[in-house]
Amino acid sequence: MVAKAHVKGLAQYKEMYERSTSDPDAFWAEQADAVHWEKKWTPPLCQSNIDVENGPVHISWFVGAETNVAYNCLDRHIEAGLGDRVAMYWEGNDEGEERVLTYSELKSMVCRIANYLKSLGVKRGSDVTMYMSLVPELPAAMLACARIGAVHSVVFGGFSAEALSGRILDSQPNVVITSSGTMRGPKPIGLKAIVDDALEICEKHGHTVQHVLVLEQLPLAEVGGSMKPGRDVTWREAVDSQSDECPVEWLPAEAPLFKLYTSGSTGKPKGVLHTTAGYMLGALVTTKYVFDLQPATDVYWCTADCGWITGHTYVAYGPMLLGATQVLFEGVPTWPDAGRCWSIVDKYKVTIVYTAPTAIRALHAKGDAYVTRYSRASLRLLGSVGEPINPEAWRWYHQVVGGGRCPIVDTWWQTETGAHMITPLPGATPLKPGSATLPFFGVEPVVLDDKGNELQGPCEGVLCIKKPWPSMMRTVAGDHARFEQTYFSAYKGYYFTGDGCRRDADGYYWITGRVDDVLNVSGHRIGTAEVESALVEHPSCVEAAVVGVEHPIKGQSIYAFVTLMTGVEPNDTLRKELIATVRKIIGPFAAPDIIHWAPGLPKTRSGKIMRRVLRKIAAKEEDQLGDTSTLADPSVVQVLVELRGK
Ligand code: ATP
Ligand code: MG
Repeated sequence: MVAKAHVKGLAQYKEMYERSTSDPDAFWAEQADAVHWEKKWTPPLCQSNIDVENGPVHISWFVGAETNVAYNCLDRHIEAGLGDRVAMYWEGNDEGEERVLTYSELKSMVCRIANYLKSLGVKRGSDVTMYMSLVPELPAAMLACARIGAVHSVVFGGFSAEALSGRILDSQPNVVITSSGTMRGPKPIGLKAIVDDALEICEKHGHTVQHVLVLEQLPLAEVGGSMKPGRDVTWREAVDSQSDECPVEWLPAEAPLFKLYTSGSTGKPKGVLHTTAGYMLGALVTTKYVFDLQPATDVYWCTADCGWITGHTYVAYGPMLLGATQVLFEGVPTWPDAGRCWSIVDKYKVTIVYTAPTAIRALHAKGDAYVTRYSRASLRLLGSVGEPINPEAWRWYHQVVGGGRCPIVDTWWQTETGAHMITPLPGATPLKPGSATLPFFGVEPVVLDDKGNELQGPCEGVLCIKKPWPSMMRTVAGDHARFEQTYFSAYKGYYFTGDGCRRDADGYYWITGRVDDVLNVSGHRIGTAEVESALVEHPSCVEAAVVGVEHPIKGQSIYAFVTLMTGVEPNDTLRKELIATVRKIIGPFAAPDIIHWAPGLPKTRSGKIMRRVLRKIAAKEEDQLGDTSTLADPSVVQVLVELRGK
């Protein structure tokens, strides 16, 4: 693999990194050759101000250029003779449900959707909201918007009507694209019924959606919801009859591409706005280098839903910008059993898998047999995103899933950053389990102390980024003041990530958790990730979440929620062993005072632990949970309350 890798070793990475930061214009201009520009930019490549003291924050890249992301994802490959290459192998929720789409077929679908949208008056700058499961029609609808300059806002098809209505009211679309409903694992989900309820809420707040396009999956009679005459149309009647050709709209580099609401781990989701050219390049370049993707031979599979940024950059855009073949999976990793992912790997000869620590830990808990019953011989690279991956989970992923032969790319980035920021390059970056390793090209991370001073060498503090990068968000939709306040006010002159991190003697970055979650015990500042990873080292612990609770002497004491491996029963010996494990790995000061058994943890719908909810449970203030609209399963709160003190 290393022989044909895009970056062949650490020395080459360092040389390219050096150039990307010392001469970013030359570096990005060279990378920009990979795509079609209808019109070239006028230098300089980046025009920006990120220091609030120097006036309003603004970021522009490739000013003066015109391009189109959908053209670069589809037409460019077809014109190069690759129209018959498989763009997507789609695997449905139930085994045996499958579809295959070539690049040409996908382009036709995209054009039909685009023509339908145009017939409704959707044009440059119009907002379109999507609320669907992961079917090919979803990325196709995203690309249809990109083709005509409309701005998509995908809302994960697991959100409630209330949460969906909030996002619709924020972006005020005239059109919503949805499906009748589908199965998620063993459970039917009535997507259209949820849209109906959401639109009713929107009406009450004065916004009327004029058109709802409904993909026919499960019959409405089975899953609920109804078709409102004049507003709702089925895919078959509206889209299938449209022409397969739709001219590309050439768009300025900074034309808005999409809005996406963050996952809400820390509070109310923000409508993150990304634009055309910089985002496109960030998606392309990271997909190419971080997954070392070889479009002619790889079969790539990112398990994320298009409702999250990972599903935008690494399902809808990145792989298609490269002309790669990918797997799209509508279902869940544990249906019909915990071996599903590895059965999919064998079925499509998947070479690259990209998933989240929450899934890795959930599958680890079920035992190795679900993995080892499949060959997985095609795999050559594994990826992780979304949360810090505990070293123990990393090792399981590496040894059991990857058979010890596949590098793991632990990619740190955010909805706001658009693309990977700190990540290994496979074959080039020596790995350390639990570290996202080194910055990607053009990214200049800094670690700051509380006062905003840049720390040098090995250190621990707040992670900020020094200079704008192409795929950076441009604003919070409709609220530029919130954008400046959230990301540029705490540390003047830097982009503030909200995450804490440690840099070791090799210059490697270790994300220690969110700054809001940092623990302060007897004057020691401790990141949540470090204590949690120590707990997960215990063979019976599969997942842990720690929070601080008020303590009269120490300031805060550590309160740990612990999920055990399937089949392990909690008892006092185990409690003592878990505490001893933390004492041994980190030190006595980090030992939790309380272990709270947690059959499940409160998570966002993208699978991230919501520690702010746990803080309330630990403090017996579960009546003050705040915004829980992004909580995946609200019932875990009650279960945890009942187990308190047990
Ligand atoms: P909100 O901003 O609304 O609270 P969120 O931060 O969970 O939600 P995302 O943009 O989906 O929304 O997640 C980005 C965050 O996820 C990062 O700031 C970081 O805390 C965490 N994260 C992502 N990837 C990694 C990783 N590889 N290692 C450690 N943490 C990660
Ligand atoms: Mg965030």
